[in-house]
Amino acid sequence: MDLAFSPAEEAFRAELRAWLAANVPPGWASGEEREFASLAEEVAFLRDWQRKLHAGGWVGLHWPREYGGRGASVVENYVFQEELAAARAPEVINRIGVNLVGPTLVTHGTEEQKRRFLPEILPAAEVWCQLFSEPGAGSDLAAVRTRAEPRGDGWVVSGQKVWTSYAQFARWGILLARTDPAAPKSKGISFFICDMQAPGVTIRPLRQMTGSEEFNEVFLEDVFVPRAHLVGAENAGWAIANTTLAHERGTSPRQLVIHRMLLGDLLRLAREGVDGAAPRRADPVVRQRLAQHVIEVEITRLNNLRTLTRIRRKLPLGPESSFVKLFWSEMSQRMHDTLMDVLGPAGLCWQPGPHAVDGGRLARSYLYYRAASLFAGTSEIQRNILAERVLGLPRSR
Ligand SMILES: Cc1cc2nc3c(=O)[nH]c(=O)nc-3n(C[C@H](O)[C@H](O)[C@H](O)COP(=O)(O)OP(=O)(O)OC[C@H]3O[C@@H](n4cnc5c(N)ncnc54)[C@H](O)[C@@H]3O)c2cc1C
Repeated sequence: MDLAFSPAEEAFRAELRAWLAANVPPGWASGEEREFASLAEEVAFLRDWQRKLHAGGWVGLHWPREYGGRGASVVENYVFQEELAAARAPEVINRIGVNLVGPTLVTHGTEEQKRRFLPEILPAAEVWCQLFSEPGAGSDLAAVRTRAEPRGDGWVVSGQKVWTSYAQFARWGILLARTDPAAPKSKGISFFICDMQAPGVTIRPLRQMTGSEEFNEVFLEDVFVPRAHLVGAENAGWAIANTTLAHERGTSPRQLVIHRMLLGDLLRLAREGVDGAAPRRADPVVRQRLAQHVIEVEITRLNNLRTLTRIRRKLPLGPESSFVKLFWSEMSQRMHDTLMDVLGPAGLCWQPGPHAVDGGRLARSYLYYRAASLFAGTSEIQRNILAERVLGLPRSR
C-alpha cells in the first residue's frame, strides 16, 4: 500500500494551500463561519464562492480539459477535498452538478447536451439537484414509481420525489422515471434531465432537525420532458444511474479532515471543561473513548490511502468501498455521542446563545451527522453488500 503522495501531488497541494490562504472568505478559517439570515442568502454566498473557486481554476478538477476541467487524477482530486476542508473553506454548492451530473453527461450525454449544460455547472451559473429517491424507493431505488409516458416529441412525467437536496435553488434535475411499466424493475427506467421551472413541478421544503430546509419533496404533475433531455437510451437509465452513484462512493477525504478537527475539539473540551463544569480529562471512560476515536480516525486515513492505492494501480474498487462509507459514518456517530457527553447540558444549545459552545456549531454537527448513516447508502445496505459480496453469505432476499 502506498502511504505517501508523490512530489508532483505535494506541489499541487502547496499551490492549492497558498491559493486558499489568500482567498478563503474572512471568518471561515478561524472556524467562526458566518451566520446567514436565510438559506437563500447562504446559497447566494456559496454560489459567489464557487464562482471565485472556478475563476481560480479549482472547480471540476477531475473533468476533462475540453469541458473546462483540469483532467486531474483521482489523487489530486482527493488532495483538493482534503485541503478545502483543512482550510475550513465553504464547500462547493453545486456538488450534484460537479460530482454527479458532469461525469455522467461526459460519459453518456449527447454532444448537444454537453455543449448546453456542462459550461454552466462549474461556475454554479446553474445549480442541479438529484431526483432519484421516492417515498417508496430509497434503498431499493429500482422500485421508482414516477411514470414517464410518451407525448409528442418527449414524455410527460408524473410522480413524487423526496429528500431532494437544494431542489428549491436548482435550475435542472437529473431524474429517474419508469418508461416501461411492464419490464422487470430495473429494466424499464430512463434517465432524464428535468427542467425545475417547467409547469407541473411543485417543490415543498422539508425542515430537518438542524433547523435547515436543504432538502425537499418534489411533486411532478404532467411535466413535459423533451426527447432532447433523455440521457442515453430509453429504458437504459438504471445502468446510467449506477455510474452516477459510483461517483458518490470510494474515499472520504473531507470527512477525514472534519473528524480530525472534531477530535481536536473533543480533546480541548475534555481538557478545559465546558460552561464552568469540571474538566472530564481524568474521567477514565472519557479517556478510553477519546483514545478509541484517535485510533478510528487513523483507520479512516488508512482506509482512504488503501482505496487511493487501488485506484492508482487501476484495480477495481469493488464492494470493499462499502466498508469505507460504513466505517467513517459510524465512527462519526460514536465521536458525536462522546461530544454530547462532554458538552453536557450545553449540548442542548445548538444555536448561538450564552451557554452555546462555539456558537452552537458542535451541537449542530451532532444533529447533522445523524444523516451520515443514511445518505449515499444506509449502514444496513452497506452491511448487506459486505455480507453478500465480500463474505459470500446468502442473499437477504
Ligand atoms: C442528508 C441527505 C440528503 C439526501 N439528498 C438526496 C438527494 O439530493 N436526492 C435523492 O434522490 N436522495 C437524497 N437522499 C436520500 C437518500 O439517498 C436515502 O435516504 C437513502 O437512499 C435511504 O432511503 P430511504 O430514506 O427511503 O430509507 P428506506 O430505504 O426506506 O430505509 C428505511 C430503513 O430500512 C433499512 N432497510 C431498507 N432496505 C433494507 C434491506 N434490504 N435490508 C436491511 N435494511 C434495510 C434502511 O437501512 C433504513 O434504516 C438524501 C438523504 C439524506 C439523509
